[in-house]
Amino acid sequence: MPTTPRLFVSAVLSAGRAVALDEEQSNYLLRVLRLGAGSEVRLFNGRDGEWAAALSAAGKKAEVTPVSQLRVQPPPARPALTLLFAPVKKDQTDLIVEKATELGAACVVPVLTQRTQTRTVRLDRFRKIALEAAEQTERLDLPEIADVASLDAALAALPSGTALVFCDETGGARPAAALMADMKGRDAALLIGPEGGFTPEERAFLRSRPGTYPVSLGPRILRAETAAVAAMALWQAVCGDWG
Ligand code: SAM
Repeated sequence: MPTTPRLFVSAVLSAGRAVALDEEQSNYLLRVLRLGAGSEVRLFNGRDGEWAAALSAAGKKAEVTPVSQLRVQPPPARPALTLLFAPVKKDQTDLIVEKATELGAACVVPVLTQRTQTRTVRLDRFRKIALEAAEQTERLDLPEIADVASLDAALAALPSGTALVFCDETGGARPAAALMADMKGRDAALLIGPEGGFTPEERAFLRSRPGTYPVSLGPRILRAETAAVAAMALWQAVCGDWG
């Protein structure tokens, strides 16, 4: 049986209060899915939980009216997971944002390291990717997509007490699973470098930074997007909500 379509809207959700959908969502419901008036959809806005709603107007633009609440908005997940990553090529960067959303990151921060080659990013595009991934993955919230920042600025902006897990491909670091087992209950930020890796100066700075834990993701050098997915999955299994 096909699942009921699920859409993110920014409007307040409450029973009987109609919400106008944008052109893209209207097109999806009316022309792609060919739904008619009275069809059921699900709505969430990151604040008011999830609602069953009825398609109440089926002209060119769709309108949906919340009928009953299906799920109450849960408090933000604790401990929280932040992903700091150096943007790579477009498709791989898109994949990192999508997978971070699927894997429950609360915040995604593009960081400019010395060897980051892609230095401009489209935050609106990242937000759209995150929104679509949240719709698909049954999340009730969206990850925060932070503005691109230098490595120093991104680290300075981390909430105090956040453990920084520095994914260091050069080896000699603790295995990631063992390190994470020791940081259960703490908010964590995972740091993934660019295609060219971190410079020796960055590595020295990170290794001496208080609250920073260099980890190894095994003997193979992973592509940045693989390393991001692997590290997030491991953190969810050891410290997060997979337990
Ligand atoms: N150019 C680098 C080299 O050949 O050594 C590889 C960089 S790798 C493609 C991109 C990022 O993924 C790294 O900076 C690191 O954060 C992460 N990474 C990849 N493999 C890793 C591993 N085995 N352990 C820890 N981190 C890893």
